[in-house]
Amino acid sequence: MTNHQGLKSRNLITFPLDIPEVEVISVETNEHGDYIVTVESTRNSAVCQSCGRQITKPNGVGREIELRHLPILGHWLYIRLRPKRYECPHCNGKTSTQELDWYDPKSPHTKAYDRHLMLQLVNSTVADVRRKEEVGYDAVEGALERCIQARVNWDEFSELKIIGIDEIAMTKGQSNFVAIITTQQTDGHVALLGVLTDRQKETVRQFFESIPSRLWPTMEKVCTDMWEGYANAVMEFDKAHAEVSIVVVVDRFHVAKNYREGVDHLRKQECRRLKKELSEAEYIEIQGVLWPIRKNSKDLTDEELKKLNRLFEYSPDLKLAYTFREDLTSIFEMQLTIAEAKQQLLAWRDKVSQSSLTCFGKFLITLNNWLDMIANYFVGRFSSGFVEGLNNKIKTTKRRCYGILRNATLFQRLYLDIEGYRRFA
Ligand SMILES: [Zn+2]
Repeated sequence: MTNHQGLKSRNLITFPLDIPEVEVISVETNEHGDYIVTVESTRNSAVCQSCGRQITKPNGVGREIELRHLPILGHWLYIRLRPKRYECPHCNGKTSTQELDWYDPKSPHTKAYDRHLMLQLVNSTVADVRRKEEVGYDAVEGALERCIQARVNWDEFSELKIIGIDEIAMTKGQSNFVAIITTQQTDGHVALLGVLTDRQKETVRQFFESIPSRLWPTMEKVCTDMWEGYANAVMEFDKAHAEVSIVVVVDRFHVAKNYREGVDHLRKQECRRLKKELSEAEYIEIQGVLWPIRKNSKDLTDEELKKLNRLFEYSPDLKLAYTFREDLTSIFEMQLTIAEAKQQLLAWRDKVSQSSLTCFGKFLITLNNWLDMIANYFVGRFSSGFVEGLNNKIKTTKRRCYGILRNATLFQRLYLDIEGYRRFA
């Protein structure tokens, strides 16, 4: 150990430790170059663990503790302290240890260091944070447990106007889904409400029942994918409570994904056919058509348009499918009442059914089954892109935290990625 008092004063800087109610006794460095700051509490009382009274009769000090604190100039820093003890005159002299606000008696870190770890963990992994901070797995996990609750704190919400339900597959093979419930707040911020163990109707409904009833009248819309478990859960919840009046909206983006798949499928089929039928030179001209065909026609460059038109000359079916797809997209761009929207959607359906195309077959069934909830989009044309945006974030978190299968942990990690900068920066 080196005592810093031996250093030349021209090499020293002095600044506050910034921990309340302590006095610095000494600053030393250990063999790793870490700073060890020994402090003493300046508070002269404790709370009796038995009766809760403020007690002031000293009774020595407890075992020395060492707490990791914020790094300083590239060095790790530890705070050493012997917590003061006091005895209670009302409880037969029973002694209690003084507790201070800047650390948790069960934690090996100061609270400031826990927050520092949380900030490091935003959009990162436990393994990364461990390496950067040279701490154990338990240190990071422990900080996560102390800083972030495993489920939503409803007190943080005064309204839940727009709720989104979405899912992510937890394992490959698409069989193990968890449902993710979010809300978009008035300022646009998307907050995480829940991570459900599965997407069964009962699970989803129980979650809605667990929302405090003071928030029920504020709920206006629930945006979901076309999954009956979600829609039925919400509608049952709505029916069961007079004060609840929720409109279920099928996310426009989910609808689009669904009808776009039909065109993608046909494109693959047609490209396979043309590869066989066309000469090599002809086929090269239409190669690389995957991205142009996925774009909306208004976003195409001249060259892409040329390529696409060449493809359409060889495949009138694909041209027709593309045109139908663009027609449907433009319906969703229009300002329509629910009745007008339904009329437009049904007219589109009839045109497609009467054509020779089969690539929209699956989508036409979906459209029939979900017409009302799809048309609900036109009420205020609420763009539920937030669900999609968050979903991408969730997928990234999931990939990063691969192996985290406990829902509570997933909730904490998602919560941290979504709220971390607001909360800990
Ligand atoms: Zn007492």
